[in-house]
Amino acid sequence: MLHPDRLLPAEPTTRDIARRLYRSTKALPLVCPHGHYDPAALAADRWLVDPATELVTRDHYLLRLLYSQGVPMESLGVGPSDRAEVDGRTVWRELSRHYHLFRGTPSKLWLDHTLSEVVGVAEPLGPGTADAVYDAVCRRLADEDFRPRAFLDRCGVQFLATTDGAIDRLESHAALRTSDWGGRVVPTFRPDDVVDPDRAGFREHVATLGELTGADTSTWRGYLEALRMRRACFVAAGATATDHGHPSALTCDLSDREAAELFGRVVAGRRRPEDAEHFRGQMLVEMAAMSMDDGLVLQLHTGSWRDHNPALAARFGPDMGADIPRHAEYVHALKPLLDRFGNEPGLTVVLYTLDESTYGRELAPLAGHYPALRLGPPWWFYDSPEGMRRYYRQVTETAGFANTVGFNDDARSLLSIPARHDVARRVNAGFLAELVAEHRLTEDDATDLAADLAHRLAAQTFMRRGW
Ligand SMILES: [Zn+2]
Repeated sequence: MLHPDRLLPAEPTTRDIARRLYRSTKALPLVCPHGHYDPAALAADRWLVDPATELVTRDHYLLRLLYSQGVPMESLGVGPSDRAEVDGRTVWRELSRHYHLFRGTPSKLWLDHTLSEVVGVAEPLGPGTADAVYDAVCRRLADEDFRPRAFLDRCGVQFLATTDGAIDRLESHAALRTSDWGGRVVPTFRPDDVVDPDRAGFREHVATLGELTGADTSTWRGYLEALRMRRACFVAAGATATDHGHPSALTCDLSDREAAELFGRVVAGRRRPEDAEHFRGQMLVEMAAMSMDDGLVLQLHTGSWRDHNPALAARFGPDMGADIPRHAEYVHALKPLLDRFGNEPGLTVVLYTLDESTYGRELAPLAGHYPALRLGPPWWFYDSPEGMRRYYRQVTETAGFANTVGFNDDARSLLSIPARHDVARRVNAGFLAELVAEHRLTEDDATDLAADLAHRLAAQTFMRRGW
């Protein structure tokens, strides 16, 4: 069903080089430092939901395009109360009926790879095969060797980080640690709910943070202490990174008194219009300061206008495919953070953007200079074949490969992890093969770099030594 040379260059000489480079990385272990899988499924070691929920309802890439073509969200299993209103087979049929909409998109590349190479379905998905494919997927997921842990082992997943809120009790991670499974699954500290005053329930979450830690989160000092304590719990659970989903990359370095006053206003609900943005900016610098102590890598995902469609958000909640890239700026925004920590080789700040125009103008020059900065891989709309190619062309000449951190699958489902890494490894091979064909790189160096991009850079950045 899938062509063995898919995504490799069309020109025969370059394609031959790319085939060799791809083959050299195809079987390398998978490092997955950022994704949105449910740790409860791993703790229970069974698929907790129907395959249609796993592969369709949770995939906001599929939801957004189907919605844009008039497919109702309800028919894709998205209910106003976040409960599937329709059964999995009906959702699957709806996707199959509209699968032609995904021709030429990465969503189709990923799903075709998952169905054909991972699950082993023999027929292509379409309106006439919906039921047969659905039944085949259901049968495979019931197999012993398809239980989540066995599946990750078989796919060669060496390290996997989930994304977890600051007030998450990490019960699934605790269960995983005490299980006899050797898989490396760790949480990531994502404190948006307690550091972003614009988030729904911010003040309640700060209060919960206090209850959870015993610190007095009504004071600035107690609030910072509570965050330090939660980070320590995450480190104890194996976390190696924090992650921050801010609208902008603004950072602020206020005096202790100013910061305490700002905190007092946001936590009492007396905030001024600019307070939320300044508080998020201050918290990035506080998080960097804490990373200097506990060694967590700081990841910053910026440039998304979340829930751009208020009617959709009101009915179905967040993460429904209505997030849109916005203009982003880094050179001014990061200055306060870089003035304090930019020269620290012991700190790693990884930048991700949804504004591609900043790759060459801002991000590559910044990461190509400051020892504390690294560039995250192309993210979200851009972890696609064309998105990755644009990224390499704009970034690597200035930042080199060593200031990047390898690949993130950002997957919603464990089942889609192998597809995402495979697409990335093919695109990497194609890009490096071009440099070899133009004699800008020897094939030996390209082979070495292909292994860096597929495995080593992510492992060095996100896995603790000894793993
Ligand atoms: Zn993500």
